[in-house]
Amino acid sequence: MLKIGCHLSSSKGYLAMGKTAVEIGANTFQFFTRNPRGGAVKPLDLEDMRAYVEFAGEHGIGPILAHAPYTLNACAKDEGLREFAKNVMEEDLMRLSYIPGAMYNFHPGSHVKQGSEAGIELIARHLNSILREDQQTTVLLETMAGKGSEVGRTFEELCAIIDRVELKEHLGVCLDTCHVYDGEYDIVNHLDEVLESFDEIIGLSRLKAIHLNDSKNPFGSHKDRHEKIGEGTIGLEAVERIINHPKLRELPFYLETPNELPGYAAEIALLKEYYREF
Ligand code: FE
Ligand code: FE
Ligand code: ZN
Repeated sequence: MLKIGCHLSSSKGYLAMGKTAVEIGANTFQFFTRNPRGGAVKPLDLEDMRAYVEFAGEHGIGPILAHAPYTLNACAKDEGLREFAKNVMEEDLMRLSYIPGAMYNFHPGSHVKQGSEAGIELIARHLNSILREDQQTTVLLETMAGKGSEVGRTFEELCAIIDRVELKEHLGVCLDTCHVYDGEYDIVNHLDEVLESFDEIIGLSRLKAIHLNDSKNPFGSHKDRHEKIGEGTIGLEAVERIINHPKLRELPFYLETPNELPGYAAEIALLKEYYREF
């Protein structure tokens, strides 16, 4: 069965997200752990979490994907900013420990003139400082489009980060289709080759989730502007190959397309239709 969901607002809590997911035909979802532009966080609501876990069990929802605020920069030059990223992600991971099977995605960071090598080192140090041996939540590095000085556009950079992390068993990668296409991986014409390269460099066993987005911009644009499924430069045929690819089809897919709930519901219905059941 296709594991498909979309990005949902977390403002009303976990149970509300679970119910919304069911309403729009999803069996998983993604959400921001807190204000994506800042660090403000709501009080911990264990009652809501418990109710959600029960609801998710009854409705077969998950694995869900928590997304860290995208303003965090684990490889900032300023030590205070790096400390902030550490504190936020540590607290998010503590909270996520109440949601069995949840994964936690973050943008590796921007090296801002320090060079990608220095960025990679700082991101690895950051991960070494927040990962705990007994943690249950898998932390995912998201593949980036390569705008500005973003680290994590190439599989080599992601591999270099993972190589330097001690508790690798808690690390994975989330592949964003818009980002990799903008970042010069031709998943439209050469999906097999891109996945072979991912496997050689990072290892497909690390691939835990897909952000399923079309792109507003042409191949290799390094832009990162998501488009609705089938309305961008990636196109519906390529999306159909992606969700059905033998190496991808069992993974959870999360839509981050520019949609309100009815638009997401329509995309989810469309993708279910295109997914081949055996
Ligand atoms: Fe993201
Ligand atoms: Fe994404
Ligand atoms: Zn994006």
